[in-house]
Amino acid sequence: MKIIKSLIALTLVITLAACSTGSKVTKTDVLVIGGGGAGLVASVTAAEAGKNVILVEKMAAVGGNTIISATGITASDTYLHTEAGIPFTKEDHFKRTMETGKNLANPELVNILVNSSADAVQWLADLGLKLKVRSDKEPFWLVPVEGHYGSQFVGVILNKANEFKNLEIRTSSKALELLVEDGKVVGALIEGPEGQYEIKAKSVVLATGGLNNNPEMIAEYNAKYANANTEMTTAGATGDGIIMALAVNANLIDMEYFQMRPLSINGDWYNESIVNTEDVSGILVNFQGQRFVNETLAPKALASEILKTPEHSAYAVFDQRVAETPAGKKFVEKGKAFTANTIAELAVLMSIDAAVLEKTINDYNEGVDPFERTVLGQVIQAPYYAVITKPSNHYTMGGIQVDANAQVIDKQGNPIEGLYAAGEVIGGLYGDGRVAGNNTLDDVVFGKIAGSNAAK
Ligand code: ADP
Repeated sequence: MKIIKSLIALTLVITLAACSTGSKVTKTDVLVIGGGGAGLVASVTAAEAGKNVILVEKMAAVGGNTIISATGITASDTYLHTEAGIPFTKEDHFKRTMETGKNLANPELVNILVNSSADAVQWLADLGLKLKVRSDKEPFWLVPVEGHYGSQFVGVILNKANEFKNLEIRTSSKALELLVEDGKVVGALIEGPEGQYEIKAKSVVLATGGLNNNPEMIAEYNAKYANANTEMTTAGATGDGIIMALAVNANLIDMEYFQMRPLSINGDWYNESIVNTEDVSGILVNFQGQRFVNETLAPKALASEILKTPEHSAYAVFDQRVAETPAGKKFVEKGKAFTANTIAELAVLMSIDAAVLEKTINDYNEGVDPFERTVLGQVIQAPYYAVITKPSNHYTMGGIQVDANAQVIDKQGNPIEGLYAAGEVIGGLYGDGRVAGNNTLDDVVFGKIAGSNAAK
């Protein structure tokens, strides 16, 4: 009798456990988590290899931060460079990447990125993405022949993905944790529109992007950027992949490095020339109308100082001459500037004591600078402008450690069986500085490496 009772109890426990995680289990060959550039590329690659692939994307649509990529891709020795007669060699590309990252990037991974870039661009061209070399001054940039870069980049890869019957994209489906059996990653627990369930897979690719939309996590890895704003990110970049990877003993590298933009507003960032150029530049003031920082600090240090203010933001105040520069013009339009013909009127619009702001501007115009700024401008030509700026993270440069196979490395230095990663979630390609445009190149190059190895 006792045995029967125990059996009934055990069955009940098993049933309840099955219900709590949803009793369905879906099986596939390759599970890709995250539907930005890297996840889409990895999915297409694994599907091309003939495997059954499920891509889960937690948002209602794929695209991630990749879809808001503004400019283009960086690549070297491509057919476009040959056609344009404008060289940008692999050596140039490697050097630029290493130097920008203060030589802290992993040269092995950077070499892979650089050496695969021409093929990556050819692949994108074959999918229908029309690019050109931006100019002989910026030969590293390949930009769209027309239109917005990120949406076209995602568009052509998504079109390709939709061709495969063996590739299923599940949106509004969030991976909660990785499943591990005998030290091997074998799938993930998913929260979908109909509840939780498991997807069991032979391999998993993590492509969940960065943590731009998770200020608490940013602060955890670099206290200087505590209270970062989230002007420059889509909603999904909350570091889920980092948390899931840590739970299976993955190693993280370079996590303290973030690409902070001091002058960011409404999804875009602006050149610091608005507040740090000789003669014509403006200043930053706090919400009491006082200067509080040397505006010519390096961007990341400047961002950190602005974040220390109670509002974690500041006013950029400048005159008509700055408003006429290309950066100034865009800043005024996007930032919904306050504009007035006198500093006193401007102060009223900013809800700041006019006498305080007038004194701040007068002192600055007379070269009084308690912040050791050596490059001083003046704010003298009406109309005057004030725009609220909110320092934000533009790119998460650290992340999960991977090897040349895009396989995740654990804290003991060993590859984790069944787990691959690509895109912004990986570390090692940047160190302390990002060559703009290497990120969507990473999506293609490491997305392909991850996808093809996961398909083996
Ligand atoms: P990358 O350039 O590396 O592809 P993106 O930011 O473009 O980075 O894409 C990452 C994608 O991963 C985003 O669309 C994001 O919503 C998605 N994502 C993040 N966390 C999860 C999760 N836990 N489950 C499913 N998708 C996720």
